[in-house]
Amino acid sequence: MAQRPLCIAGNWKMFHTPKSSAQFVFSLKKHLSDLDFPSFQEKHPLDLLLFPPYTNIGVMQQLCTSYPISIGAQNMHQKEEGAYTGEISGIMLQEMGCSYVIIGHSERRKYFFEENSLLGEKIEAALAQGITPVYCVGESEEERTEGKAFDVVEKQLREALESSSQIFKKEILVAYEPVWAIGTGKNATPEDAEDMAQHIRSVLKLLGNEAFGNSTRILYGGSVKPNNIGSFLEKENVDGALIGGASLDPESYASMVKVAMEITQK
Ligand code: PEP
Repeated sequence: MAQRPLCIAGNWKMFHTPKSSAQFVFSLKKHLSDLDFPSFQEKHPLDLLLFPPYTNIGVMQQLCTSYPISIGAQNMHQKEEGAYTGEISGIMLQEMGCSYVIIGHSERRKYFFEENSLLGEKIEAALAQGITPVYCVGESEEERTEGKAFDVVEKQLREALESSSQIFKKEILVAYEPVWAIGTGKNATPEDAEDMAQHIRSVLKLLGNEAFGNSTRILYGGSVKPNNIGSFLEKENVDGALIGGASLDPESYASMVKVAMEITQK
């Protein structure tokens, strides 16, 4: 089991309205009430993160002010302000109370053509606002079949992180999300996730230093569900999960949190 605090993160993509987000929070609290999650969390390190669409951040933030769930955003612009119609900046998120932001999800890379160097700028901009970036990396099916998965992920890390001056002094999270596993029902094996997490950790040590590599939390994402999350969380170098589809339902998210609570207590 990992030594770093586990992190159970839900990426809602373009699902849930402000109203249904509020219902989610009420229902989640109910599902976790038998285990008294807030008291548990005071004694055991376990982080719950939810990444709703921008429009729902305010209401969720309010509903979670006295409840230990952090609310984050799914993306942000690299500039602080400017004539960029439709964009949202780090300072805006920070003022909304966001403490995390997902950067470089494979859907951003695919549909919005976001590349590693731009993602590096976004990571820097998030850190400058005191927001912890969750940087997503992962190979395509073809790249895995061709035996290039480790190289692809290393390139994604290097090109985004190596020019940063502040990165190794602050916290970031890395989410390993093989593209072929996202939303497909075809998860990586826990052994493959562990191998890649080990590789990511060694690249982080090379890019930064030993302490940065050892302390950075690495999540696995890709068709994580209540019935398979435990096998990932048990792995030494996997420090949590980034979950899409299965995080949309409060009962399903709560059951994954319960698995993480059990593992955290071991
Ligand atoms: C994701 O959106 O980051 C993700 C991993 O999705 P899913 O869990 O649905 O595969």
